[in-house]
Amino acid sequence: MMEDDIVRIIRLLTDNAVKIFRADSGFMTGKIKAGNSPGLIYKTSNFSESKHKFKTKMIIPIEYVNHSFGNITLYFKEHKPIAEGDQALANTLGNIISQAVTISWMIQKEDEMLRLTEKQKETEILLSQEKLKTEFIANATHELRTPLAIMKGNVDLALMPPPDTKTMKTALEEVNIEIKILSEILKDLALLTSSSQNIKNILRHSPVNIDELINKVLKRLSTFAAEKKITAKIIKVGKSNLLILGDKGYLEKLFLNLIKNAISYGRNKGTIKINLSKDKNMVKIRIIDDGIGISLEDLPKIFERFYRGDKAHSAHGSHSGLGLAIVKWVAEIHGGRVEVESKEGKGSTFTVFLPAK
Ligand code: ADP
Repeated sequence: MMEDDIVRIIRLLTDNAVKIFRADSGFMTGKIKAGNSPGLIYKTSNFSESKHKFKTKMIIPIEYVNHSFGNITLYFKEHKPIAEGDQALANTLGNIISQAVTISWMIQKEDEMLRLTEKQKETEILLSQEKLKTEFIANATHELRTPLAIMKGNVDLALMPPPDTKTMKTALEEVNIEIKILSEILKDLALLTSSSQNIKNILRHSPVNIDELINKVLKRLSTFAAEKKITAKIIKVGKSNLLILGDKGYLEKLFLNLIKNAISYGRNKGTIKINLSKDKNMVKIRIIDDGIGISLEDLPKIFERFYRGDKAHSAHGSHSGLGLAIVKWVAEIHGGRVEVESKEGKGSTFTVFLPAK
């Protein structure tokens, strides 16, 4: 409530006081703001400065809990004996006015506090976004440095005199592997740093058959699965086509990351089950492995960018720790979500929910 509202209350009550006591005019003096010096706050339109014309004067003190805001003074043209009841009524009216002003002050203070906390919240959000950005850049730099350092080491080795074709070839092969890793990291980074507006422009929505998509991903990963002698099984519940409206390329990336992880962290000669079903208006895809599982400590962090569990360092292949961050991100830009359940030593289940078409 603004100061204008307080003035409005005072005006209304002064005008009403004039009416209640059948006075000819009235005015209020006092202060409407804490710390303000008292002065004339309001006078009725017919108020005249020449007090001589008035025969009776009545004072309404504006007081509340030992706090005085001022007085309303009423003028009467005729002699008017002020009855005891009138004075009691006047005191009550003064009390009401001061309460109204006090409440207005309190609301005003609360509004100010609210505005302040909103500003604080905005600043906190900006600061945390800034912190996330800094962390992201630091992590990304670190990730890019490793393959670069390995490449540098191999190039140095290849250039060492005397020239030796065999050493050079081995070094170049190592460089080639690191270039592949580097370009994968750069692709993932580009994905994760795209702004939501850019993504909306890039996304190409079309009906995607989840059954077909998962089969395609399994085919791509078949050599990798064969290396660990892992078998993958798709179990479909119900006969209906599981269709979602989405971007095929991004959705393929989502399932590729999840199934690749299931193989990476899966047990040698183990099984990966992929359950497909419909849950209300969502298509539900569960990827169940019987591998190393995830510790309770790691579980809440695995979807963070660059997070790698301890065991991942010794696992096969390149592990940037970006895979699950991309999974979560792709699910969310499609209006879906990912959930995980896991028991260390027993295996993990990742469940993806995507809106059905
Ligand atoms: P990474 O490149 O390290 O695999 P991800 O983001 O895909 O990165 O996964 C983050 C971490 O989550 C992994 O380092 C690993 O510790 C854990 N993780 C992911 N999937 C599984 C799984 N199926 N079983 C066990 N641990 C997993």
